[in-house]
Amino acid sequence: MKTLLIANWKMHYGPIKAGGWIRAFRRERLPKDVDIAVAVPHVSLAAARSSLGRASIPALCAQDVFWADDGAFTGEISASMLTEFGAQYCLVGHSERRLHLGETDEMVAKKASALQKANIIPVICVGETEAQQKRGEALKVLRQQTTAAISQLASASKTPFVFAYEPVWAIGTGKACPAQKAKEAHEVVRAVIAKKMGDTTAQQVRILYGGSVDVHNIVEYMTTTGVNGALVGGASLDPRTFGLLCRTAIPS
Ligand code: PEP
Repeated sequence: MKTLLIANWKMHYGPIKAGGWIRAFRRERLPKDVDIAVAVPHVSLAAARSSLGRASIPALCAQDVFWADDGAFTGEISASMLTEFGAQYCLVGHSERRLHLGETDEMVAKKASALQKANIIPVICVGETEAQQKRGEALKVLRQQTTAAISQLASASKTPFVFAYEPVWAIGTGKACPAQKAKEAHEVVRAVIAKKMGDTTAQQVRILYGGSVDVHNIVEYMTTTGVNGALVGGASLDPRTFGLLCRTAIPS
């Protein structure tokens, strides 16, 4: 299974800085046999696309989508609009959206389905909060979020889907999840997919780890069974650091 590394800029870099990041990252020596994508704010998709020119690395990833194709949904962006920018991936259910914007499991499921229908790979983020973890509910939460997120996805679709296990307490805190715990969480996500969609689909789904990944701990995750890549926030804001992280993840 090909490793997938995604840079998540979050709410950083408008169109002017986006172009600079892409051009600087393109000068980095990058490993082969790995998929690399960058999740950029909607307003920066066009600039990122034009800075890429004909290049396909990094692939473009949107940070969110609305589930309807068009209509009276002021401020929203549809999957078909994202295809106009050549977005190949789109995040859904990032914990920052679940927490700050009230995104529910049902909304995440509708978004993931809309993306799959538009041939954009949904990157579905799941993960427990610190309070849920302290109450011993982490795996229950993961099962619930995963079950809901795949409820409207087609296992036989030509567009695959990706999961990112991102414990909320590890995001942007410097408190990365121990690899063994991440392994356990990934096994739970994969088991839910297997139960609902069959073993073949479950074995093909890439499950990324996200939460304070950096150049120092990336190898630990990359060598953990069942971890198929990483979603990287803070350590992706500098294109050279993210280039180094990619080379460290997949040494040549
Ligand atoms: C993220 O943006 O999804 C993320 C995991 O951020 P960070 O790497 O900064 O924890």
